[in-house]
Amino acid sequence: SAQIIDGRACARTLKQSLEADVARLRAEGLGIGLATVVVGDEYSSTAYERRLRRLADELGVPYSPRELPADVGQDELLACIGELNAEPSVSGILILRPLPSHVDESVVFRAIDPCKDVEAVHPDNAGLLALGVPRFVPSTAASCFHLLDTWLDSVGEDRAEFYHRCLIVVVGRSNNVGKPAISLGYERQATVSSVDEWADRTTGIGRHTRWADVLIVAAGKAGLIKAEHVGENAVVIDVGINGATGRDGKVRMIGDVDYDSVASRARALTPVPGGVGPVTDVWLLRNTVTAARLLAGQRIEQALPALPVARTAQ
Ligand code: NAD
Repeated sequence: SAQIIDGRACARTLKQSLEADVARLRAEGLGIGLATVVVGDEYSSTAYERRLRRLADELGVPYSPRELPADVGQDELLACIGELNAEPSVSGILILRPLPSHVDESVVFRAIDPCKDVEAVHPDNAGLLALGVPRFVPSTAASCFHLLDTWLDSVGEDRAEFYHRCLIVVVGRSNNVGKPAISLGYERQATVSSVDEWADRTTGIGRHTRWADVLIVAAGKAGLIKAEHVGENAVVIDVGINGATGRDGKVRMIGDVDYDSVASRARALTPVPGGVGPVTDVWLLRNTVTAARLLAGQRIEQALPALPVARTAQ
């Protein structure tokens, strides 16, 4: 049965090195701070906000949450972003999704100072990532590859060799998860393909997914990927977060992968919870620290911090 890739352990290690960086950089007087903007009270965004608040606190990163009502006007939201852009103690700004439908997400994202845009949603940052010279790597995609890299190290596989002969299939093609994951796959000189719901509706996704050496699943559909969709040697990264009500009436979190059946077939698998999520959270704080360094005019030598490019590809 599949090896389980432990996201919590990975996040702990990342957190330890970040904690030391935060202490050192704050002692140097760097203005590190994360601001989140939550509009409305959607369960997924408020839960994420609470996790970030706790983590920022543990890491010693000043945190300023902004909560706006679901019926907030777009101008008021833009004014709030303007204030955060101008605030020297804020180095990273995260606008939590989903935004209400009366707000134009693309206008809101364009209003963020690109040097504080830690999720890389501003077109400047999305473009830099697509060109392979990212300022910030969006945290969820970064988490997927950090988990993969760490797992490869743990089993003694050479990263460069693995990625160069690897087919990565990404299920889901959103701007915030699927597309950044595709870009990071290209950066590792892997062969990458991507499927979305149209492929699923017409031919079924198994036609594509079962050839994957690495399958990254970010569709937001509970139990979408079953054993029959994966090959025996596949490494499966489950990004999905879905609520499922058990027989006891309690809601628990499950992924997009039908865990038990896929675990009996794949080579390795990330669980939900305890896989991609914990590393994503730490990565966002890590980007907040990178932003503070960029804003202070420090040079960041490596465009992909701690996401090493394969050895033979430098
Ligand atoms: P989204 O709704 O913006 O995009 C989903 C994508 O999946 C779309 O491209 C859609 O076409 C595709 N899709 C939908 N049904 C499909 C199907 N049957 N077959 C193939 N493709 C299909 O969602 P998102 O923001 O990209 O998030 C995806 C999932 O990841 C959600 O469950 C979300 O909660 C979760 N998520 C987790 C983390 C984390 O850190 N673990 C972070 C962000 C998002």
